[in-house]
Amino acid sequence: MADESLIADILVVGCGPAGSAAAMATGKSKLKTIVIDRKPLEKIGDKVCGDALSPEYPETANKWIGFPIPTKEDGTLKEYCDEAVIIGKNPTTRLAVGSKTSTVDRWLYGQKILKELMKIPDVTVIPNTRVMNTIIEDGFLKGLKCYNQEKGNFEIRSKITIDASGASGAVRARLPDSMCQKFPKRIPKHEMIAAYREIIRTPEPHPFQKSIFLTYVPEIEEVMPGYYWFFSRGEKELNIGLGYMLYEKNVGKNLRKINSRVRERYFPKCEVLASQGHQIPARLPLPSLVHNGFMAAGDAGALANPLTGEGHGPAILSGAKAGMYAIDAIKKGDWSEEGLWEYNRWIAHTYGVEFSWGIAIVKFYLKHGMDVLDWIMRKGIIEEHDVLMMVNEPDRELPLIQRALRGIGRPRVLWDLRKTVNLAKNIQKHMKNYPDPQNFEPWLKKLKKLENTKI
Ligand SMILES: Cc1cc2nc3c(=O)[nH]c(=O)nc-3n(C[C@H](O)[C@H](O)[C@H](O)COP(=O)(O)OP(=O)(O)OC[C@H]3O[C@@H](n4cnc5c(N)ncnc54)[C@H](O)[C@@H]3O)c2cc1C
Repeated sequence: MADESLIADILVVGCGPAGSAAAMATGKSKLKTIVIDRKPLEKIGDKVCGDALSPEYPETANKWIGFPIPTKEDGTLKEYCDEAVIIGKNPTTRLAVGSKTSTVDRWLYGQKILKELMKIPDVTVIPNTRVMNTIIEDGFLKGLKCYNQEKGNFEIRSKITIDASGASGAVRARLPDSMCQKFPKRIPKHEMIAAYREIIRTPEPHPFQKSIFLTYVPEIEEVMPGYYWFFSRGEKELNIGLGYMLYEKNVGKNLRKINSRVRERYFPKCEVLASQGHQIPARLPLPSLVHNGFMAAGDAGALANPLTGEGHGPAILSGAKAGMYAIDAIKKGDWSEEGLWEYNRWIAHTYGVEFSWGIAIVKFYLKHGMDVLDWIMRKGIIEEHDVLMMVNEPDRELPLIQRALRGIGRPRVLWDLRKTVNLAKNIQKHMKNYPDPQNFEPWLKKLKKLENTKI
């Protein structure tokens, strides 16, 4: 006889930003929701991160599902940052991207969200619990085989399972191959960012007050394409670190060592409060994030911006939306792939469109290198608001080509810049034409062609 307490409408794997937002949505609409996480309760939220989070993401999720907002008063918000700056290879090349962003205390914020989640009567959080395998019946994902020390091996059954387990995609990776025809079971290394961060305390006020800086530092040269960041967490506290694409040439590089060299140069007398590395997906969103009884959100759906590695905000919003579409599917009594398909369309229209810039710009970088990108910034071909626009209004026309005419001395660069903009625009157009399930194959074929376009 199945344990009634382990039968749910919705099973969520992972209580990070994506999973907690999904569970908040479904639990508040009185769907019986179980969330499992491999961490103990007191460690939930403790995630390796650069800590930058634009306030718009939690504010939007708050409007949608009452998701908690980080605040200065309770310490979950560390610092409002008025300035976001990109520094080029030449240290005088400086592009202010004018974004209003903030840094958060991920652990405290995660704990605040967890407390709200546990107040919802229809939500049960089971900590210290890992996914071991999937339960597949009649072509549907019907739940998971799990393990924890207290219960040993046990099953949780559900109508819909939402994979919000982060970059590993713990559920997706355990689906049978027959269910992974429209998305990859595992994301290959070359589509991942290796990232490492430290939280440091400086003896004096640091030079990055109320700002976030993405910089090229000479130490990063050996692992390009990548970047180094300095994100302020207060007058004498910073989150510093680096991220780079895990291309074959970069596999096995020692992130910790590269980071120490930069830290010792900038802050020889600082105290290191925390240090750890992890990976971030850096590609277009999975072409489909659903199957019969299955959905993916956050990093598990490859929903981090491939240009910046920013995935906290997309995790919150995709988690909330996954929950909202799951509610609709259960109301309609259809949680097959087709019944969940509209979630795919929302993802393609939102993050498919936004991430197109990252895919195209990385190709341009790979061909021309950092010196040319520096030159583009110095010439004013990319201006202050362009980077913000690539995130907030990604499909608006950017007059890069008109401005690039200022660089008429470099026609080859101008030509490739045109190709880069066109590639981003073509991916956007394709994402906006996201198909119905019956027309998915030709759409995917064209997407792959676009992804393989050479600059
Ligand atoms: C070094 C670094 C710096 C970053 N900097 C930034 C930044 O400044 N700004 C930004 O927006 N993003 C940043 N990111 C990305 C951001 O951290 C992620 O995109 C975001 O946390 C994704 O949220 P998520 O809910 O999808 O996954 P996660 O936050 O990874 O949460 C997944 C949850 O699932 C649980 N879990 C995993 N596997 C299992 C399993 N098998 N069984 C049960 N539970 C499981 C985990 O314990 C965890 O609680 C950074 C990432 C790294 C690594």
